This record gives sequence, structure tokens and C-alpha cells, in this order.
Amino acid sequence: MINRSTFDDVMVPNYSPLAIIPVKGKDSRVWDENNNEYIDLAGGIAVSCLGHCHPKLVQRLQNQAETLWHVSNVLTNQPALRLAEKLTELTFADKVYFSNSGAEANEAALKLARRYSFDKFGVEKSQIISFDGSFHGRTLFTVTAGGQAKYSEGFGPLPGDIDHAKFNDLASVEALISDNTCAVIVEPIQGEGGVKSASKDFLQGLRALCDKHNALLIFDEIQTGAGRTGELYAYQNYDVVPDILTTAKGIGGGFPIGAMLTTTEIASSLVVGTHGSTYGGNPLGCSVAEAVVDIISDRQLLDNVKAKHRKFMDGLDRINERHKIFKDIRGAGLLIGCELRDEYKGKAGAILAEALSQGLLILVAGPDVVRLAPSLIIPDEDIEQGLMGIDKAIASFLEKEND
Ligand code: PLP
Repeated sequence: MINRSTFDDVMVPNYSPLAIIPVKGKDSRVWDENNNEYIDLAGGIAVSCLGHCHPKLVQRLQNQAETLWHVSNVLTNQPALRLAEKLTELTFADKVYFSNSGAEANEAALKLARRYSFDKFGVEKSQIISFDGSFHGRTLFTVTAGGQAKYSEGFGPLPGDIDHAKFNDLASVEALISDNTCAVIVEPIQGEGGVKSASKDFLQGLRALCDKHNALLIFDEIQTGAGRTGELYAYQNYDVVPDILTTAKGIGGGFPIGAMLTTTEIASSLVVGTHGSTYGGNPLGCSVAEAVVDIISDRQLLDNVKAKHRKFMDGLDRINERHKIFKDIRGAGLLIGCELRDEYKGKAGAILAEALSQGLLILVAGPDVVRLAPSLIIPDEDIEQGLMGIDKAIASFLEKEND
């Protein structure tokens, strides 16, 4: 019999999954192996942007599965070309590189930044500036760029010439940046780091500093992209255009795919043979992502994300008036973080567990922040029921706390 304890028997212990095993999903609902139903406000960590088993994505995947799965990068394929065309039409970018995950998209971005600076300015221009609290993936380069030491500890020696400034603190960047800086990498909203938004002044200031020092500005939009903030990409909220943008998670709606977007000038450094991936840009992933992009690039859908944001915020404010548990409720679109008051510090995981027993999937972003990242098309009644579940989960958490 396969059950949760099988995980401990046969899987490397780098995860600690919850007790239930989801076996089926539809829209914003998920069912476990005992047919218990859950409202999904986690969205597979900001991935299932169109909910579970969206009919158009299922259709697209089935059609492609019956047509062509894989050809390798010795040949191109039509879904990849169509998707790249759409992404370049909808963003600042002229060129696209496809990967299979977010970390790989960032790995490509960081390698491209190094290579471009090397080609144009020489070997000295290699410094990468990132931010405390940031998260960019789990490859050695990306954990080193990430601003959370726990993810790179014990994996050294780490790639060199990567420095960390303070998020939303331009002076700390000014203190580090020089003509030897090749790139600054930043999340417009730090997702894993606690749903912390960059200010407009900060991102515009980074743009100006990068321009001054001929450094590339990389926006990691792996969590904020694909419509999550109510714009196709979060940079479109800020009047700041990056040089390189990375996208993954939502862009595949649950099918693994990532992409790095950039300009023709910068892309020209990735000449034949400098970088690649066996599966990156495969027809299955690109076909599904094309369907995702077709659906989420619709203005009305994006405006609805903003409307659903307000619905969540109003509901969470009301819950907080009752329970006084959060010191801050923040975020954009359908990426929302609720930071616990100091007396409940470290307890976000306990609230997640209570939510599960109320039939609700939610997320944390570190130990002090409850995070929601539901489907962009979550029905209003699921928002209402989800908020009721959060209310009950918090009441039950507080009851145990006060026991
Ligand atoms: N960058 C950001 C901002 C992320 O949120 C994540 C994943 O949480 C990643 C990169 C890594 O993406 P992946 O897990 O697909 O490698």
C-alpha cells in the first residue's frame, strides 16, 4: 500500500510533505486519497495559475502528446517558436531561451550576464549583486545568488564574486556597485523571502545605477510573473524595464517549463554551444505554456486578478479585526503575505496545519508569514469559503495557543 509513510521509506529526505496525498484536482479544488476535498489557495506555490486540469490546457497537452513529444535542440519545433513569438510580442524582450524550471532560467540569466560582460568589457567585470532574503533557485549558482545562507551552507566552495545588498535600500547597493559589476538580480516582490514588495523608487534607482555602471538588471519574475500581480509581468507595474527577465512556475500552469527573456544585443553573447538543455523548449511544455499565455494575457483576466486581490484583502482585514493575529497583510494581485504579530513569530507552519484540517491548502513564506497564491481564476465562492476556512483555522490555532 502506497501512503505518506512510503515517502520516508523511499524518498531522499529533503522534503517533509504534509500527511495527505492529493490524487485529483479540478479548478481550485483538490481531493486526497480518502476523497477529502480541499480549497486550494496555495496553487502549487504560485504555479497552477489556471487551477487544476483547465480544459484548454488538458486539450493542448493531449493534442501535443498525440503529435510530437521531443526532437532535441538539434531541431527547433513549432510550439517553441510560437510561444517565443508571443512572449516577445507581449514584453520588452526580443529573444527567448527556454529551460525546464525557474532555477535553470536564472542559471541561464546569470551565465548570460557574466558572458556578456566578459565579451564586452573583459574578465574583471564579474560581480553579481543580489539581495538579502531573496530566493533564486537551488542550483549552486542560484543558491549562492539567493540571499538566504541556509540554502548554500555546507555546499561550498561556492561560485565567487556574488555580493548581497539590503532589499529596498538603494544606499546599500551604491556601496557595493562599481564598473566591475556585471549584473544586479532582484525579485520585484520577494516571494519565498516573505512576500515583500520592492518600492518603485528602489527598482527605478536600481535601473539608474545599472545604467551608470553598465551592469545588467535581471528581474526574477518566476513567482511574480505570468499574471500573478494583475499584469503579465510585475515590471509592467513599475515603469522599469529590465535587461533580462526570468519566468517559470505559472507560465506552464503546472507543466514544467521556464524561460529567460532578453534583448537581441544581450542575447548575442550566447552564441552556439555556450549554453543549452536537452529538454528546454520541448514541444509538450511549450504547447501548454502557449495556451497559458493565450489565456492569461487577456486584460479582463488580469483586471480580475486585481479585483480578487481586493476581495482577499478585505476578507483578511476582517479576519484580522476579529483575531488580531497579523501585523501586516501585503502583496499584489494573487500573491498575498500575512505577517504574524511578534507574539506568534515562528508559527506560520502551525496555522498551515490548522488550515489543512479545515480543508484548505495554504502556504508559508518563512516561519512568520502565511502566504496565499491561488489560481488567477479562482471562483469568488471559493475565495469566500477559503476565507471562512482561514478564519476557522486561526480561531482553532489561537484556542490551542491560549490553552
Ligand atoms: N526564483 C523565484 C523567485 C522563486 O520563487 C523560485 C521558486 O520558488 C525559483 C526562482 C526557483 O524555481 P524552481 O523551483 O522552478 O527551480
